[in-house]
Amino acid sequence: MLLFTPGPTPTPEVIRVAMSVPTIHHRTPEFEEIFKIVREKLIKIMDMPEVLMLAASGTGAMEAAVTNLCKSHALTINAGKFGERFGKICKAFDIPYTELKYTWDTPASIKDILHEVKTNPKIDALCIQICESAGGLRHDVEGIAKAVKEINKDIMIIADGITAVGVEKIDTANIDALITGSQKAFMLPPGLAMMGLSQNAVSKIEKAPKGFYFNLASELKNQRKNTTAYTAATTLIIGLKAMFDLIEKEGFEKFYEDTKIRAKAANAALEAIGLKIYPKSPSFAMNTVYHESAKEIRSIAKKKYGVNIAGGQDELKDKLFRINNMGLIAPYETAWALNAVELALDELGIRKYDGTANSTFVLKVFKGV
Ligand SMILES: *Cc1c(COP(=O)(O)O)cnc(C)c1O
Repeated sequence: MLLFTPGPTPTPEVIRVAMSVPTIHHRTPEFEEIFKIVREKLIKIMDMPEVLMLAASGTGAMEAAVTNLCKSHALTINAGKFGERFGKICKAFDIPYTELKYTWDTPASIKDILHEVKTNPKIDALCIQICESAGGLRHDVEGIAKAVKEINKDIMIIADGITAVGVEKIDTANIDALITGSQKAFMLPPGLAMMGLSQNAVSKIEKAPKGFYFNLASELKNQRKNTTAYTAATTLIIGLKAMFDLIEKEGFEKFYEDTKIRAKAANAALEAIGLKIYPKSPSFAMNTVYHESAKEIRSIAKKKYGVNIAGGQDELKDKLFRINNMGLIAPYETAWALNAVELALDELGIRKYDGTANSTFVLKVFKGV
């Protein structure tokens, strides 16, 4: 079965092999050396002055960022399930928040955000997805963050980059917390969350430490010494080092470029067979299609052609399908998935099969789009 869901993504064999070594103790020079290497690589790839690794799924880092960086009032952007989650976190911790809601295909508007920031001086954090995975939607976080900082540089920009880090180079100049998780573009099993921090965020955390397991001040103190406050996710961190070794063979620039080409070529292929790309500003992390028969298309792709494509969520559960594009994916695998979709359309009597999806994709990939 080809796993084509936007998280978890398949783990390449070299990474699986690297993680198959006997467990080592986390308070040892051997592990601290690995931790140090990975920490430095994360700082570089996130392009931020500080980074933390937490034994948690991505949501753990979302919670930690909110509880440690928002002290008075959060502005949350809800254009899907993951944006909605920021609001739920605020609620769980009794943090006052304002939620800006958008339909799942529509990116957040800078104007709306600036209006909230200007009218409510209590807002001290903006929580937003870079890619909202519910609809494969890319928000212009960089532009939004810049505009917000021009009004008040102390507003913390908390960016959920769980399906953005490792997909494309992110301009972190105005981002205070950049969150990611192991099971998306980094191709690891789930269980490790990572967070890049700005200098401003570090000062804020150190000035008023908060929480226990997710007390980022104690993590900062420990991780700067290449250890963790509690038991580190040793196996995943060893896997993360293997991921860096693998990608660095050809470099992250090539990794991002290949991802972008595949994303564009696959969207063109889907459109060429008459399908509608759902988000108004598609992210490169996945290819998201709106179709009344999305559920049936997925079911045929899985049962007949061995491709596991994700559906939608909530009311769009049976109306969207999402083909993962994160990680190292051989173009022939995506070609297979797109071909399966085209064959499913034929089987459902929607469109006669003629190989258009496959040929469009392959030609575009070879031409570099
Ligand atoms: C997957 C995902 C998450 C949630 O991560 P978990 O690891 O399931 O906690 C959060 N935000 C986005 C945008 C995601 O795609």
